[in-house]
Amino acid sequence: MGLPTTIAIDGPAASGKSTLGALLAEALGYLYFDTGVMYRAVTLAALQNGVDIFDEAAIGELAEKVRIDVAPPSADDGRDYDVLLDGQDVTWEIRSDAVNDHVSDISVYARVRNAMTDQQRRIALENKVVMVGRDIGTVVMPDADLKIYLDASVEVRAQRRYQEMLDRGEQADFEAVLGSLKNRDHIDSNREIAPLKPAEDAIVIQADCLGIQQVLEKAKELVYRV
Ligand code: C5P
Repeated sequence: MGLPTTIAIDGPAASGKSTLGALLAEALGYLYFDTGVMYRAVTLAALQNGVDIFDEAAIGELAEKVRIDVAPPSADDGRDYDVLLDGQDVTWEIRSDAVNDHVSDISVYARVRNAMTDQQRRIALENKVVMVGRDIGTVVMPDADLKIYLDASVEVRAQRRYQEMLDRGEQADFEAVLGSLKNRDHIDSNREIAPLKPAEDAIVIQADCLGIQQVLEKAKELVYRV
């Protein structure tokens, strides 16, 4: 059997899955696709257009209408790719506190999830891909060749996210970061449709005591073993 051509990586916020996904995709020469950017882009579109986050019908309509593209990086400012919302570069805007605070709220809506899932499945059909998110192994690519669930305690994840913010020269409050992650974990894990959980056939990597290189080595062992 050859190498897995569809690899799903799921896990909670700030578990390191995006970094792992990007490195693994680079090592294999596959497309890296971070599905979180799509939910973030819909959230930003709602905030920019003054659409009420809790108006499910209006947010659903918006999700079906907006065009979200991921393209090679156009600037050398630490980005791995460009995220375009209706052609506008929103790579950094989708990482704002306002988006962090509301993205899990819009991610519970069925119409939003259907619209995003359809696009993600199309991408998975057309490419050798490492796809990262919350429901990739359970819903988007249930037949993925390899499923990894990257986990870490909320305290460790908050500490890493807090340190990243300090390293970028941003103001950061550890308790606020911890609270925001706990809130997102709670909503993502308890929603009715496509909640955050490991697929039954996922391999769980517990990363509390592992650096990113160690996580990458473990993931590579799984890739070459499949
Ligand atoms: O991975 P990231 O933190 O960028 O994801 C932002 C939010 O988007 C998550 O907290 C979750 O609410 C939502 N999301 C999702 N399903 C995915 C990816 C992200 O519901 N596959």
